[in-house]
Amino acid sequence: MQTIAERLKSARSRIELATASAHRPPKSVELLAVTKTKPVSDIVQAYEEGQRLFGENYVQEGVEKVQQLSEYADIEWHMIGPLQSNKTKVVAEHFDWVQSIDREKIARRLNDQRPSSMKPLNVLIQLNIDDEDSKSGIQPAELPALIDTIQSMPNLKLRGLMAIPKAAPDEQQQNATLSALADLFHQYQQNLSEFDTLSVGMSGDMDAAIAHGSTMVRIGSAIFGARS
Ligand SMILES: *Cc1c(COP(=O)(O)O)cnc(C)c1O
Repeated sequence: MQTIAERLKSARSRIELATASAHRPPKSVELLAVTKTKPVSDIVQAYEEGQRLFGENYVQEGVEKVQQLSEYADIEWHMIGPLQSNKTKVVAEHFDWVQSIDREKIARRLNDQRPSSMKPLNVLIQLNIDDEDSKSGIQPAELPALIDTIQSMPNLKLRGLMAIPKAAPDEQQQNATLSALADLFHQYQQNLSEFDTLSVGMSGDMDAAIAHGSTMVRIGSAIFGARS
């Protein structure tokens, strides 16, 4: 059994290698450690190895962990799971980022419920890039309207896009999806000053995602082991 420290180190070298192979500058890809279903002690182990960005999927579990680890003030907490509107308040009160914005109602509630004592909430719009049937994420055509709305909200800072491409049948299809996503990201980035984050790539597809311009990979099982 490898330790969390060892697996974190491997994940970091994999990111470095993929970044270099893509001729991208060192450190242009951040690692978000996804800790859903994993105990707080795993988060502490990764923290002790220098990891600072952590992602959670489930609101109640995530909020409990943020509270239990409140003394680790430099952890940056990312909500990456689907959000229901009755759960937005605790998320606005505890998280630094929400990556799963997929409708105006959720954005508006987060903006209204963000405590004035906290910095603006960093948000990503989740894009449904290749699977029209899935419930999560918006279609590319809906992007301009949602971007405009979020730009008008003082307590939200629009940082970019997030996507979870479905497993592609072959490399060609995977590359096509990732290229389309990167094109969209770069297109909107030209006119938006704080739009700097493309969150795509997980344990299984991080190398391809980095080759296609991902700036943040979300890695769970490759660091913390399979979830039961
Ligand atoms: C669980 C999850 C991840 C991490 O997936 P792994 O395959 O464990 O690396 C990344 N992003 C989202 C949105 C997730 O729900």
